[in-house]
Amino acid sequence: MQNVDTATGPGIAPASIGIEDVAAFHGHLCPSLALGFRIARWALRMLQCPRPHTDELVVVAESVDSALDAIQYVAGCTLGKRTLIVRDYGKRAYTFYDRRDGKGIRIGVTYTGLADTPRLTELRELLESGTASFAQRQEYFARAQARLDFILSAPEEDFLTVGPARHPMPSPGARDRWGQCTICREPTMESKLTLKKGMLVCHECADRY
Ligand SMILES: [Zn+2]
Ligand SMILES: [Zn+2]
Repeated sequence: MQNVDTATGPGIAPASIGIEDVAAFHGHLCPSLALGFRIARWALRMLQCPRPHTDELVVVAESVDSALDAIQYVAGCTLGKRTLIVRDYGKRAYTFYDRRDGKGIRIGVTYTGLADTPRLTELRELLESGTASFAQRQEYFARAQARLDFILSAPEEDFLTVGPARHPMPSPGARDRWGQCTICREPTMESKLTLKKGMLVCHECADRY
């Protein structure tokens, strides 16, 4: 299994992250996860970013599915650190920004390279409806395995595209201050408090009263 090339050092990412590590984090190994793994590895290589866990990268993801777990794990960009931003256009594309120079690359997936073959889709529907025969189940798993093997081993250029970022690097924004909702009294970020009947309240209370 190929590994991500990352430098080691104090508080830095492990020397290598394999697909097994990503699968352990995600809970299973699926083609979408493998895709995210390949995308993130390619991005790190192209950006020559050997130490992703030192917050050198910001990722803007254009969809949310299994692939995004691999991207978070490999690139070290997470929602909590606000180095992962989701703009859910339902598209398989991810822009990786290098915070050292603000430059970014957008990696996408070709439609022809990864679209399910009609047969695979047909078999999956049979499987999900519980009407697949034993032979059809076997065929489905063989095809799905072939898809996984392809994603994990094919040259990136065969199924991925890369271009410059289409938007400037998003700024993480100032850290918010804590306020308090007048009704429920729960701590609430000031930017999320809203004015209702002359009171500063949280969105939940604003909807309820
Ligand atoms: Zn998955
Ligand atoms: Zn409230």
